Amino acid sequence: MILFRNVKIMELEPSAVSEPIDVAVFEPGEGDRGGTVAAIGPNLQKQYPGAKVAGEGGYLSAGLVCGHTHLYSALARGMLVDIRPSKDFAQMLDHLWWRLDRAIDPNILRASALAGCSDALKAGVTSLVDHHAGPECIDGSLSIIRGAYEAVGIRGILCYETTDRNGMDGARAGVAENIRFAREIDAARASGAKPLTEAAIGAHASFTVGEETLTALADAVRATGRGIHIHLAEDKFDAVDARHRFGKGPVERIEAVGALNDRSIIGHGLWLSPSEAEIMNAHGAFLAHNARSNMNNAVGYNNLLPAFANVVLGTDGMGADMLEEFKFAVFRHRESQGPWWPGDFLKVLHRGNKLIGRYFDRDYAPDCPGFGTVKAGAPADLVLWDYDPPTPLVGENIAGHFAFGMSSRSARTVMVAGSLRILDRRPLYDDARIQAEAREQASRLWKRMEER
Ligand SMILES: [Zn+2]
Repeated sequence: MILFRNVKIMELEPSAVSEPIDVAVFEPGEGDRGGTVAAIGPNLQKQYPGAKVAGEGGYLSAGLVCGHTHLYSALARGMLVDIRPSKDFAQMLDHLWWRLDRAIDPNILRASALAGCSDALKAGVTSLVDHHAGPECIDGSLSIIRGAYEAVGIRGILCYETTDRNGMDGARAGVAENIRFAREIDAARASGAKPLTEAAIGAHASFTVGEETLTALADAVRATGRGIHIHLAEDKFDAVDARHRFGKGPVERIEAVGALNDRSIIGHGLWLSPSEAEIMNAHGAFLAHNARSNMNNAVGYNNLLPAFANVVLGTDGMGADMLEEFKFAVFRHRESQGPWWPGDFLKVLHRGNKLIGRYFDRDYAPDCPGFGTVKAGAPADLVLWDYDPPTPLVGENIAGHFAFGMSSRSARTVMVAGSLRILDRRPLYDDARIQAEAREQASRLWKRMEER
């Protein structure tokens, strides 16, 4: 049993801040309800005298969710590689990212996944939705990433981004890796485990996925009961290409093969049509909005954002600091003169939990309150923030504090599935080793990129 004493519970949706109270958590393996919030009430230490105290005071919230990232880009930070200038997004993929993903080998992959997962936990992020590419190292790659998630103890949904751009053998290997990994997770569950990682069916983008591969992906979605995770209309070119080559918008293509469902994760979607937003909404699909990445790639702004029912926030590989991403999302939207306010983006930030629930709710009792809340019975993915605001912090102004003040440096103690991962800002795993190994593998990666 782990105890947080005298904490104010901060709920993001509906937004609320409680009076100071105690929160007790069942650790993993502690009975049927291991990994969930055990009780909330005053003086719980009396009730659970043997409980370990993990913090006193501050704000306790559900962990944050990053709805779309690329852990393979964790070692791209400050890259010292001769990259030709790019005049558009397609060239940026060619000159930079497709050289990088071809250079990934198992050691580079492991090191980048560990470094990215550790970064996320330190920022108060307890779930990371990853979209992986590495065409020279496909088979088994998702298990390597899973190993990193399990080693640092973070939750997430993994997939391999299937693409035709490296030939049809590569495309088939991508589909196979997604199915293989989904089966691996199914087998772990069947043996009674509650794996920290789940599987989605990954694909790169409409413009690199032809009809044969798209059909195979749709079959994989049906066979595994998962959702597709794909970039659509990140750049205008992707939407134009789909209409030109297939006579359909990118979302219409996915729907036409029966691959769109309420576990689908559509990255970016800047150039989708209003009717495509309606199609996604009708299927309960998620749109992962990555404001900062869109700015960095100069692909435009998603002015249709309010038309999508299930918007979540992602970083698209630019770290995993979701409070920072929240600020970018808010300010870029303000600049676009859109109708949303910080409170709308607080709902968007919180909605990542709904996505996580679609994949992980099955591991919890039917009466579980679900992810994204601090209530008895809820999954214990929690963050204790030691934020000490200069103005009152109440339910009505959490979004204002997130936009104009609070940052991830306030993340003090982080727990995933009832297991403490960061305690008083000290990772409970060997972070110095992870960072040292990452620097070594980053040098190797950059060297291998020069050869490609
Ligand atoms: Zn992406």
